[in-house]
Formats: sequence, structure tokens, C-alpha cells
Amino acid sequence: MIQPICRMGNPKLRSVNKDLEIDSIKGESFGRLLADLIDSMKHYGGIGIAAPQIGVNLRVAIIELPETNRYGQKIQLPLTVFINPVIEFLTDELQGFWEGCLSVPGLRGFVERPSKIKVSFYDEKGKFHELIAEGFLATVIQHELDHLEGVLYVDRIKDPAKFAFQEEYDQYVFNQKEIGD
Ligand code: ZN
Repeated sequence: MIQPICRMGNPKLRSVNKDLEIDSIKGESFGRLLADLIDSMKHYGGIGIAAPQIGVNLRVAIIELPETNRYGQKIQLPLTVFINPVIEFLTDELQGFWEGCLSVPGLRGFVERPSKIKVSFYDEKGKFHELIAEGFLATVIQHELDHLEGVLYVDRIKDPAKFAFQEEYDQYVFNQKEIGD
């Protein structure tokens, strides 16, 4: 079911999120949570969503990165469920992207993050995975996993001059091709 999105200022976004008991994956309440995450992500047009964004303080997030997305990036990831994810940074090298967030609607901000990561997680069937990601996908994963730590992308904007409304971003930034590296 489509759930309302918690917006910046809602304490649910800043709360401690608990690991999911892997055994509970087979249960009804996890099934409902997963369906709610998928329905809500698709309804609001996100490329990822984390459980606290729909008011559930568990360490679960999903990402689906189609080849054509609103960020104009061509990296693809089929719908992937990240349960109890742990991130490892594989480089000190930073990359910057203009990020957006369903919990911070109508705004974009430029955030630099490590360009290569490894993420270990369980999927919705309880299977363990390790995924190495680079480029835009690495940023998307870090953004979603930040939600599980109570962190929003706005916390990571270093230059407040690179924080903009979507319309101004479209008008003044996008055309200068600042998106990307
Ligand atoms: Zn977000």
C-alpha cells in the first residue's frame, strides 16, 4: 500500500533503526513492509526508499535504478532489497552528484561521496550478498543507507550555494552539466 512519506523535520527520519531479524523475513509484517516500500517508491517516482521514510525504524531499504531515470544516469540496478546492509568504502576518492530525496521534496543539493563501495546485505529471501558499486550507483546506495543511520543528504552538503530548488536547478545548473563528475 502507498504510504505517506516522512519529510525532513519528522523525528522518524532521525531515529535509531534496528536490524531486522532475518527469520522475520517470512512473516506477514515484513511482507507488508516490503510491499509498502515498493508501492510507495513507484508511486512517488523515487529510485530508492528506506523504511524510516515511511515511518518504520528498521534497517531495510530498496533501490531500483532503471536505465532511464530522472537523474539522466545510465547505470542499471534491478529492484534490490537491502536488509541490514553494511557499507565498506573502497576508495578515498570522492565524486559529486546533485542529489534529491522524497523526504526533502522540491530541492536538490550537491554532495560528494566515495566513488567506490562494497555493500554486504541480506535480500528479501534471506540470502547474503556482497555488491561492489561505482559511480552514480555508489552514490544512490550511500544515500539510501544513510537513511538507516538517521542521516539526510542535506547533512552532507558542504557548499550551501549548491543547494537549490528543483526548478532553479533545472534552469541554472542542469544546463551547465554540473551533474556528474
Ligand atoms: Zn532520501
